[in-house]
Amino acid sequence: MRLLIVEDDAALSRAIIKVFRSQGLAVDHVSSGRDALEIVKMEPYSAMILDLGLPDMDGLQVLKTIRQAHFNIPILILTARDATTDRVVGLDQGADDYLSKPFEVAELEARVRALIRRGQGNPEPTLHLGNLKLDRASGAAYVCDQLLELTKRERAVLETLAVRVGNVVSKARLNAEVFSYDDQVAPNALEVYIARLRRKLEKSDIEIVTVRGLGYLLRVAK
Ligand code: CA
Repeated sequence: MRLLIVEDDAALSRAIIKVFRSQGLAVDHVSSGRDALEIVKMEPYSAMILDLGLPDMDGLQVLKTIRQAHFNIPILILTARDATTDRVVGLDQGADDYLSKPFEVAELEARVRALIRRGQGNPEPTLHLGNLKLDRASGAAYVCDQLLELTKRERAVLETLAVRVGNVVSKARLNAEVFSYDDQVAPNALEVYIARLRRKLEKSDIEIVTVRGLGYLLRVAK
């Protein structure tokens, strides 16, 4: 799950980035509308947080440009403006949700998680795959109701495969969804995470299959 944050307030940006990274999301941050329009085309973002008061252009213009280009990325707008018209215009121009500043970070987290789930076509907060249960709010994974000790990266890889159960996910796509531009990633990092996950999932009903030349596929094996 990769998140794009477009916000020019440095302190607020740091706080939001920290929260979502601690949950295992890959997070990229830009502070101008121009950069947002560039970067949104480059990576498979699961959602975008968009501030309306940007230094170079109005966030509503960024939103409009993205929608006109037919990008379906779920977008939550952040606005310091309390005017109802801004929220109405934002939603009418294709935003999926909004939050007024100041806000509780916990509410932002919950709203973004809901947006990501809906964007993936599955609003269910818990995934059940055989005896594996994945709580997408907390990120916790259980096998036969026993908590699996996973690092946040392992969780991210598992969730990315689990939401597409039965379908091959290419290595490029997995890398793009699990790591941000700021992550220092060894070339074989993904293989290492997959190997660790397989070991940790030995008692589960699911297996992660390597599809040569294509990528990985998670399936319920038993
Ligand atoms: Ca701003």
